[in-house]
Amino acid sequence: TTAVLNVLDDGGESLQYRKEVALHEDGRLELTVRMRLLPYRQREEDPSIGYSFRVPLSRLAGARFTARTGRASSAAPATGTLTAATPDGSLTAGKCRFIAFERDGLRIVFDANPHGVLTKQDYSMYGEPVGSWNVEKQGEWVVFSFGATARSYGGIFTSKVILYEGADDYDAKHPYDQWNYHGPTPAAAQFTFGTAAEIEGFERADDRVYSAAQGWGWRRADGLEVFRVSSPGILDNAVGGQPGSGGEFLVDVHPGVWLLTLRLGHPSQAVGPFAVSLNGTPVLPAVSLSAGETREVSLSHYVRAPERQLVVGLSGPGSWGVHSLIVHPVIYDNQDFALDRGLWVAPGLFDPEVPLDWCGAPAPVPPSALAWPLAVTAGTWSRRPAGAEVRSAVRSQPEVMLPADSEALAWRYDARMGDLTGGCGCLLYELYSPELIGRRLDELVAGGMNTVLVSGLHMHHCFLDRWPRIVAYIRAVTELAHARGLKVIYHHDVPVVLYNGTGLQHLLTHTDWLARDVRFGRPTLRSYCIMNPGFRAEYMARIVGLARDTGIDGGMLDEGNVAGDDFCGCEHCRAAFTGDTGLVLPRDHTATAFGDTDDPLWIAWINWRRRAVGDFWVALRRELNAVNPEFCQMKYTTHTGFSTNWAIRAFGADLIDCARGCDFLGTEIMSRNVYDSARAVFAFRKLKSALGDHYGLPIWGLVYHVGDPVFAYVGWAMNQMNRQTTWMSTIDGEDMTRYLDWPGRVDCRRARSVADIAVLFSAQSRDWAKMFGHAADVLGVSQVLTEAHVLHDVILDQDLVDKGLLNRYKLLILASASCLGARQVEAVRGYVAEGGAVLATANAGLLNEVGLPQETFQLADVFGVDVLPAGTARGPVTCRDREGEGSFVHPAGVLRVKAREGATVRSDVLDAKGNPAWPAVVSNAVGRGRSLY
Ligand SMILES: [Zn+2]
Repeated sequence: TTAVLNVLDDGGESLQYRKEVALHEDGRLELTVRMRLLPYRQREEDPSIGYSFRVPLSRLAGARFTARTGRASSAAPATGTLTAATPDGSLTAGKCRFIAFERDGLRIVFDANPHGVLTKQDYSMYGEPVGSWNVEKQGEWVVFSFGATARSYGGIFTSKVILYEGADDYDAKHPYDQWNYHGPTPAAAQFTFGTAAEIEGFERADDRVYSAAQGWGWRRADGLEVFRVSSPGILDNAVGGQPGSGGEFLVDVHPGVWLLTLRLGHPSQAVGPFAVSLNGTPVLPAVSLSAGETREVSLSHYVRAPERQLVVGLSGPGSWGVHSLIVHPVIYDNQDFALDRGLWVAPGLFDPEVPLDWCGAPAPVPPSALAWPLAVTAGTWSRRPAGAEVRSAVRSQPEVMLPADSEALAWRYDARMGDLTGGCGCLLYELYSPELIGRRLDELVAGGMNTVLVSGLHMHHCFLDRWPRIVAYIRAVTELAHARGLKVIYHHDVPVVLYNGTGLQHLLTHTDWLARDVRFGRPTLRSYCIMNPGFRAEYMARIVGLARDTGIDGGMLDEGNVAGDDFCGCEHCRAAFTGDTGLVLPRDHTATAFGDTDDPLWIAWINWRRRAVGDFWVALRRELNAVNPEFCQMKYTTHTGFSTNWAIRAFGADLIDCARGCDFLGTEIMSRNVYDSARAVFAFRKLKSALGDHYGLPIWGLVYHVGDPVFAYVGWAMNQMNRQTTWMSTIDGEDMTRYLDWPGRVDCRRARSVADIAVLFSAQSRDWAKMFGHAADVLGVSQVLTEAHVLHDVILDQDLVDKGLLNRYKLLILASASCLGARQVEAVRGYVAEGGAVLATANAGLLNEVGLPQETFQLADVFGVDVLPAGTARGPVTCRDREGEGSFVHPAGVLRVKAREGATVRSDVLDAKGNPAWPAVVSNAVGRGRSLY
């Protein structure tokens, strides 16, 4: 039996709470607290809300402690010793998720994150339990606490800590010690059947028999046939059984929820019909596969103590075969506060929740219990022989679907965006009555805002049971906002799977939606694949329904990309890649193409993912257009999207491709001090305007002014000078309307640049450059021009082949724009021949559009310069002008080049003795134009 004490306050004017202490039979003490701060009730003098308990220092002094600290994405161990001499303050550098104390006669654990890192509850979000606590020495006490700043909109703050006697047993209680949105999920065990060679991370299970010491194996080896060939490929080998001869593969596990990924089939024989069972329950009744055909199935099961084993059974009237088995823990049973039990030990008592009865939508109904085990088929495919593919280019003209400029969408060009409550960690409906919503909207109007972002319950899949209330609430907000002339943007996230609320259950019933790695097809337990048709249908129906039923003016989806470097190798992505390109992504994990950026197949794959992600945004817009052709699809990125190829390589996320379906593009300007970082920020804003100019779109910038009126003003002004709108919060006591409403401000919709210099930002060069990086040179050139008060625009790869656009400029700057395609080269050649001027640096045009080296500059005839086989020289180098004898030092490396006949060498790179070694600056006259390299 469990002894439970609850303390409730359900009538507080500013605060309501429930505290529960439960002493379990096994000695665990479970302490749970949930507080509700009502809106506009925070104390001005101390705007914080928190909870703490304290332990006498004397009880813990002399103990050595081990802890897990930090956010879920960067959780790290920490150790130390607590003594009376320990200075007051936090025992660990970061907040504690878990801390264990040990000394003679004392061993005690405080688990502040009993549900584990998979919920990513690093701080107060959505009213879900916070997973990290402050543990501080304060004089004669050790104080355990969690809390948050009490914002005006209030909210719900929850946490749970479990105390028990024992040593640090973090790993026995939690299968994962870190959790990121993206990337692979480590498996507990991986088995191959029949492979001739070791594969890193896999056990060669073959026909090995189970032993308790090994913890896995077949129950009996009789009747098992190992099919082994010289190829190391997992799918080329198998273990099977003849008709009537069954097999049972056992894996010892910690009780909890487990996910198995099983690849069935035989490389050279038809198999079936056979059945698959899990822990005695049939899950797939009749599988039949032709020779070389593979079926991948996802099985999940809740192994409940005293059971501690997974048993995969394969048997039937026909023969059967298996290639591999991958075993992932989902949660251990002690982490379960979502399936078999809930937050509270004693159900049915007062729970501080936000009343939303006025919305007219039904209260959330808990999802019905899952029937274990669960099974879904993730894919069935036949292998294609390598080299059988037909190579063809990706469709050359990607689809662009954007609304035309119209009065109805003109608001975007003068949008001043404010938040209804906080950011994505909010509960969404903290302002629980129409009066409170109206009060906040009036504040925004008074602060000069005309657009409101509604954020909260960010990760959709965790809150699907509340969906009717979410819709009803957003409808009410939208009506109240529209009545005040405010536009409404709904901010959310979907493909990431967190295990809060309904998230865990959603994942377990949609394991076939999970993104998979390209080498082994292993699922990640972190993210769905946005290419999966089931995922798309469910999400798009939900968001289209929301747009239709609420009248929101726009939406902002945070994710919408590929799940990481090695993703997505799911069946849908592979099939679509082949359909679009004629190429086949290898099934064989040993294929050398994987990760090789010099291999045309891998290049095509990375470029296809980028295109596919862009196509996702177009598809989303197409669905939304059906209910509202003027729906605003807002999208944010960071400046890093320009400066590195990280987002393309890791996530397939590219600003330029996403812009094909998103009509309101913006940036989180991450530098908090935009004043001191003005040089870089201004250049980055120019890059962003290139997107707006190319697609005919408004651009916004999010200014984090950290409450400083100067930062707010400078951030707004830099955006303004680039014809961009600003999203920022209001500052108490600061009248921002003096500039937000300034009659002389730029009309961002009608303003046009009069610059006659174009600087190319080449996304191709960002993605595939070799030898010299591209972005730093573009940013540097832009900064130099700005310092000299020279007006200039940034243009994109696609703009080079727009003759009318190019001819508007007197000068085109190709700053280390290494990767140019044949059409671009031809366009630049024509532009110069007809009188244009080009300034090129470093390796401009030395590579093709996917970074493959060319013999010399593709524009060698224009530059009057050829590259020498000796390649690059390290910097710094000293250069001397031929006229005037002036010299300068170039700080970075340079290419060794030679001038063509007829070209004019302006200056030379000097060798160690001060003699000219090769040209540094060369000018050339071409047709009616000229060039300077
Ligand atoms: Zn996929």
